[in-house]
Amino acid sequence: MAATEGPTVAQSSPSSTPLPPGMVLGPDGKPCRTCTDWKSWSKLAKTKKAQTQQGGSGSESAGASSSSSAGSAAAAAVVTAGAGTDDTAVNATAPDDCPPDREVLGRATWTFLHTMAAYYPEKPNEREQTMMKSLLSSFSQFYPCGHCAEHLRDEMKKEPPKVASRMELAWWMCGMHNKVNTMLGKDEFDCNKLDERWRDGPSDGRCD
Ligand SMILES: Cc1cc2nc3c(=O)[nH]c(=O)nc-3n(C[C@H](O)[C@H](O)[C@H](O)COP(=O)(O)OP(=O)(O)OC[C@H]3O[C@@H](n4cnc5c(N)ncnc54)[C@H](O)[C@@H]3O)c2cc1C
Repeated sequence: MAATEGPTVAQSSPSSTPLPPGMVLGPDGKPCRTCTDWKSWSKLAKTKKAQTQQGGSGSESAGASSSSSAGSAAAAAVVTAGAGTDDTAVNATAPDDCPPDREVLGRATWTFLHTMAAYYPEKPNEREQTMMKSLLSSFSQFYPCGHCAEHLRDEMKKEPPKVASRMELAWWMCGMHNKVNTMLGKDEFDCNKLDERWRDGPSDGRCD
């Protein structure tokens, strides 16, 4: 999924860019949990907490920043730079009952999208095809990782969804996912294995 322009991501120079590296801002200019990986998100929250414990004035968590400006969150990150926020202080993954970060949201969403494609009708009628196009178009507007959604819309303009049959949709989805995989430096998935992965399970029966 080639980006026309990347998300607003904090760089590592604390003096010129106040947010921690990896933190992505949403369209509202505030730190965006669903656009950011858990580690970067958690670091910001921990710097804020450390600041509070050291007698600072911060009182919001990063996740509860709905009323804060990007500037105030950013300022917190600057003030607390180096205040006990090394990698070892941050768990690799969030507890299961936390709101999703970019990775958790991505895995859950791909699971839904590929499974939906795997069970799409072999020969959809006109109405079903229109509904699927509409669903994917709406999805690409509202996917809550803003820069991910923007890439998806760009790619959908270049290669509109193929909805004429189950296999067409499943392969189109596989291609979209592989574009993201490539962009993120991951291996491509073998689309010949779509049904095995998302519908039938492997022939050794371990999923039965
Ligand atoms: C629409 C969308 C756009 C995204 N854009 C971005 C982005 O711009 N930047 C970003 O950092 N993250 C993005 N993500 C999240 C990213 O794609 C991953 O979901 C996330 O990094 C977690 O990756 P993962 O390695 O755990 O597995 P995932 O990539 O989430 O894959 C889950 C499982 O799907 C299977 N799979 C993998 N590839 C395919 C394929 N091509 N076809 C079928 N099955 C497959 C594998 O079994 C894999 O374990 C996006 C997610 C979505 C849904």
